Amino acid sequence: MSELATAIRGGDRKALARGITLVESRRADDALQAEALLQALLPHTGGAARVGITGAPGVGKSTLIEAIGLDLCAAGHRVAVLAVDPSSALSGGSILGDKTRMHELARHDNAFIRPSPGGDTLGGVAARTREALLLCEAAGHDVVLVETIGTGQSEVAVAGMVDFFLLLLSPAAGDELQGIKRGVMELADGVLVHKADGDLAAAADRAAQQCMLAMRVLHSGTTPPPVLVGSSLTKRGLGELWQAIGARLQQARADGSFAARRARQIGDWLEHAVRERLLAEFLDDPVVGAAMARARDEVVRGAILPSAAARALLALRRH
Ligand code: GDP
Repeated sequence: MSELATAIRGGDRKALARGITLVESRRADDALQAEALLQALLPHTGGAARVGITGAPGVGKSTLIEAIGLDLCAAGHRVAVLAVDPSSALSGGSILGDKTRMHELARHDNAFIRPSPGGDTLGGVAARTREALLLCEAAGHDVVLVETIGTGQSEVAVAGMVDFFLLLLSPAAGDELQGIKRGVMELADGVLVHKADGDLAAAADRAAQQCMLAMRVLHSGTTPPPVLVGSSLTKRGLGELWQAIGARLQQARADGSFAARRARQIGDWLEHAVRERLLAEFLDDPVVGAAMARARDEVVRGAILPSAAARALLALRRH
């Protein structure tokens, strides 16, 4: 094993950060090194509870992650926090870039927090977060929390890399439930109606009731995902939340669905990697580049249909 791999295995946080920087790099020579690093560490991965957390901006994701992260660290767990942030793919910004949002957790010896990688496609960002997750596991983190904001595509990406996908709703969600995309409700393995404190407590309970009904309809015939209420300010419900997640994971391990889900995820990842690579190789070909420019002109002029031009371009593929 390389020096870096050994240092990561030893729990050296600087080495873990360096390893993640390596897998995030887009330089061709780094890509080979990153692959060698991941390959060396692969036998030591897979051991964490991987939990995704989504919710609209302001619903309290970072506050919750800090609260449960600190509890878990205090109980002896080693917690890593990663982010998939579509806005970072577009603008270079990052939901975790502002480290002050989890300042206490960031200082804890058992915690490792990594802002979202920059990248030019969400697919690329998500792929690198998957690899970062493996490195965190190899470094001995037994809980990995992956945060994302509520946009369809990034939610699908995160749900595709975790064992449990938690949706956070605000107490006002009762009124808004109609507006919450069915897709994310279907992806959720559990829901927490957050900020259930003070004046918001009663609304949160009502929202949870409505959400439970909606979940029963969506999952008729099976046990619906748990719907809980909680507050990161008062800590109400946070113990129950982690217990519910643990119970679901335990059940999934017992009935085989845990292993099946991970197998499906890694298979999907392979397919995704093939698609990305094929596309990049095709588009990077200078012959294709020139033909693409000509085809663009032609479709703009209305001389040829985009679908026909695409077929002609794809016929340039080298075998
Ligand atoms: P994020 O954008 O989802 O990460 O949300 P933040 O964690 O940054 O929180 C957004 C705002 O909600 C902040 O002003 C927090 O102080 C507040 N907040 C977070 N958790 C709670 C909570 O449990 N109860 C209440 N009342 N406010 C909260």
